[in-house]
Amino acid sequence: METFDLIIIGGGILGSATMFYAARAGLKTALLEQRNSLAAHTTAQAVSCFRKQWAEPDFFYLMKNSIEAYENFGALTGLGAYEIGIHQQGWLFASATAKGAARLQAWQRSQRALGVDDSEFLDGAAARKRFPFLSEQVTGATFRARDGWLSPYEAASGFARAAEMNGKGKLFLETRALQITLHGENVGGVETTRGALFAPRVAICAGPHSAQWGARCGVSLPITLLRRQRAFVATRAAPAAAPMVADDDTGAYWRPETGGAFLGWAQDEPAQPPLDNVPADPDFGAIALDACARLSPFWLDVAARLRKSDVSVAAGQYSITPDSKPLIGESAVRGLYFLTGDNGFGIEAAPQAARHLIQLVTGELTEQQNPFRLDRPMVQTQKLIL
Ligand SMILES: Cc1cc2nc3c(=O)[nH]c(=O)nc-3n(C[C@H](O)[C@H](O)[C@H](O)COP(=O)(O)OP(=O)(O)OC[C@H]3O[C@@H](n4cnc5c(N)ncnc54)[C@H](O)[C@@H]3O)c2cc1C
Repeated sequence: METFDLIIIGGGILGSATMFYAARAGLKTALLEQRNSLAAHTTAQAVSCFRKQWAEPDFFYLMKNSIEAYENFGALTGLGAYEIGIHQQGWLFASATAKGAARLQAWQRSQRALGVDDSEFLDGAAARKRFPFLSEQVTGATFRARDGWLSPYEAASGFARAAEMNGKGKLFLETRALQITLHGENVGGVETTRGALFAPRVAICAGPHSAQWGARCGVSLPITLLRRQRAFVATRAAPAAAPMVADDDTGAYWRPETGGAFLGWAQDEPAQPPLDNVPADPDFGAIALDACARLSPFWLDVAARLRKSDVSVAAGQYSITPDSKPLIGESAVRGLYFLTGDNGFGIEAAPQAARHLIQLVTGELTEQQNPFRLDRPMVQTQKLIL
């Protein structure tokens, strides 16, 4: 029957980061996670890459600040030498068409204009010289050497540990939120499987389940859930020092991982309801190998020699918004906040998205200054291909 300043529902990367920034702002905060571990749902299925290669100001604001938070994780959280598995091996976007090369070159110029001072454009020959695994068909590429990937489980655990160490954060694992209670017109707390908790503010960070929470509280969120899959291929053939390699024409991508590589591809999928376990397609490994071989042909040789046991597939759900930007802010129900609409980049955006939410909660930012507010007009953008 404890009272808090803020209760967060959902202990993925976004809820964990939110608990950290809330505790740092002096808010007594509870984080509720129904599973027995943090970062065990969508966050656990990710390929966990991050990049500063963005050319749109709102995305750049989120990613630049988030990457800097991850790069300085120990100092930021006070955890010192705590490791979050950062690998800054770069991120390469490549194309095999003349149009694609021109598109990437223009995109890299726009990044520069925004302040990304270390991304490069490489023509086909330069790209192949630097990355000999690339196909003869590659016409152009952009690359940033300090992009990369990290361990979101370690990051989420570090955020939660830092919040608990500061004395303001309290983590409740294996605790399912059942219902949000109201106190007059305002949020009053949360009924959970361990009893009632009280707070004037609740933040929904429930990943694919967030829109359902909204609907139960009379808040309609413009979110579509789409399955996204990732294959792990055990092989020695994937260069361990390679960057994240994304085919900018199709969205197929791969990156090295201990013992092999992760491969992914955003195929067209029908919208889904929120799922606790997202079934993966057993054929996805073969599909992703084929798609990645277009620009990195060594995958064809790997595929020819693979045994079934060398490939495993996992799936999660992206929460897609019409303008591809996240939903961060207070809803029409006073005290009810949302941090969702990850559009497939929730890990790379998490620190700054969470910080932004807490700045709204504390009044440091107003909803008028908030480009991610829930009721903003949304222009349908071309969908992100990754
Ligand atoms: C194949 C794939 C590849 C990806 N690659 C990348 C990538 O390279 N880079 C990147 O940035 N992002 C990537 N993503 C996206 C990334 O995984 C998500 O953006 C991110 O994990 C979203 O985090 P979250 O905290 O919102 O959601 P989740 O991790 O789903 O966390 C929500 C949590 O809420 C809990 N919960 C729900 N309901 C309740 C309740 N009633 N009570 C208590 N707890 C509850 C759930 O158990 C869950 O742990 C990828 C995703 C997929 C599927």
